[in-house]
Amino acid sequence: MDVIKKYGDFIKNTTPERPERARKLIRLGLKEEVLRHGLLPDKGMPKAYTRLNQLALKSVLSALEHPEKTVWTNIFAPVELLQCFGLSSISMECLSSFFSGFTVEDYFIDQAESVGIAATLCSYHKNFIGGVDAGVVPKALLSVTTSMICDGNVNTFRYLEEKHQVPSFVLDIPDEYSEDAENYVVEQLKELIGVLEERTGRKLDPEELNRTLERENESKRLYRSFLKKQSRKYYPNTMTLHLYMLFATHLNIGSEECLEFFQKLEKDIDSYPDFHGKGVLWVHLMPYYQETLKGYFNYQEKYYLKACEMNLDYMEDLDTAHPLNALARKMLNNLYNGPYERKIKRVAELVEELHADAVIHFCHWGCKQSAGGVMLLKEEMRKRGVPMLILDGDAMDRRNSHDGQIKTRLEAFLELLDQEEEKE
Ligand code: SF4
Repeated sequence: MDVIKKYGDFIKNTTPERPERARKLIRLGLKEEVLRHGLLPDKGMPKAYTRLNQLALKSVLSALEHPEKTVWTNIFAPVELLQCFGLSSISMECLSSFFSGFTVEDYFIDQAESVGIAATLCSYHKNFIGGVDAGVVPKALLSVTTSMICDGNVNTFRYLEEKHQVPSFVLDIPDEYSEDAENYVVEQLKELIGVLEERTGRKLDPEELNRTLERENESKRLYRSFLKKQSRKYYPNTMTLHLYMLFATHLNIGSEECLEFFQKLEKDIDSYPDFHGKGVLWVHLMPYYQETLKGYFNYQEKYYLKACEMNLDYMEDLDTAHPLNALARKMLNNLYNGPYERKIKRVAELVEELHADAVIHFCHWGCKQSAGGVMLLKEEMRKRGVPMLILDGDAMDRRNSHDGQIKTRLEAFLELLDQEEEKE
């Protein structure tokens, strides 16, 4: 940790005068990680997750090395289309998390606030804005985002468009599904294809889009099968790995590399032992750096993180005969679109499907959608007799999280879970 902190301090000290050098330092750090994980994977990390680790690191590295082939997105953007143009997607949240991994998030957040970005804005946005403003994040080819759930996304990308001339394309996604809504989104997707064709000088290959969607369907089938097996198997993981899953379930879904990862995941679990612990379904972001949470959940069977619901926000098959309609439906019917009741219903289903014994919801500081609905979710879980804990903090700005408070609440909750078991 000290080494990372020192490296982070070096990046922070280098940024004001030489932002490109600071970027180079980040790239060097990432390359070193790719190499280290390739040669000497973490002890106890399952083989499939070693592959996931590489996928995540390489995605971030590519955004920093090849900005001309990179699109800034949120996790709901139609990345399948972008892949067909040889473009890679990096979400603002993922890039921000990696900065936090280098312990430089405070610098970029302060940088954003110093130019007038509201202190109350979610730290993922501030971190990203600060990184771009400081010149450490290179300008992408364009940004593609959706109007769903997050009240910050559209404004962040528009701000970056005005200040740094990174063109932004916003998909307006209606709250409710209807045929009209589907057609409305399909028209916007066609418009996006036009923009992509113009920016890249390439034409969309409909067969490639078809193959991408087929690989996505197969990836999801394998993931569902893995989760089913996981109800009786213990496949070690960490909070960071659950976050890295977003690179597979969202940002690179449909790619060959991603499909290979899911094939490995689904097969590898067979060689792991039976599961005897308590299964936890995690809702929303994970403060991967919190010492207490790491101690209780990273590579632990007693209280086992079965899944994070963000990775399971849309698990339906895509209709490959009508790819644009399928992508429109994927966004319209996403658990994160529309009324909060949709999320409650899906979380309740996941508790059943995954045989989870408890739910933990993390309220990320500055995120209005998560704080606004969490009590409704808690009420539903109470009715269903599912123990649920709400934790507050910041998933990446270490200054906003208090380990002592989290420790007290978490330990009281786990004790309760243990008592429930004794009663049974
Ligand atoms: S945590 Fe909430 S506010 Fe922040 S990026 Fe995610 S949805 Fe938006």
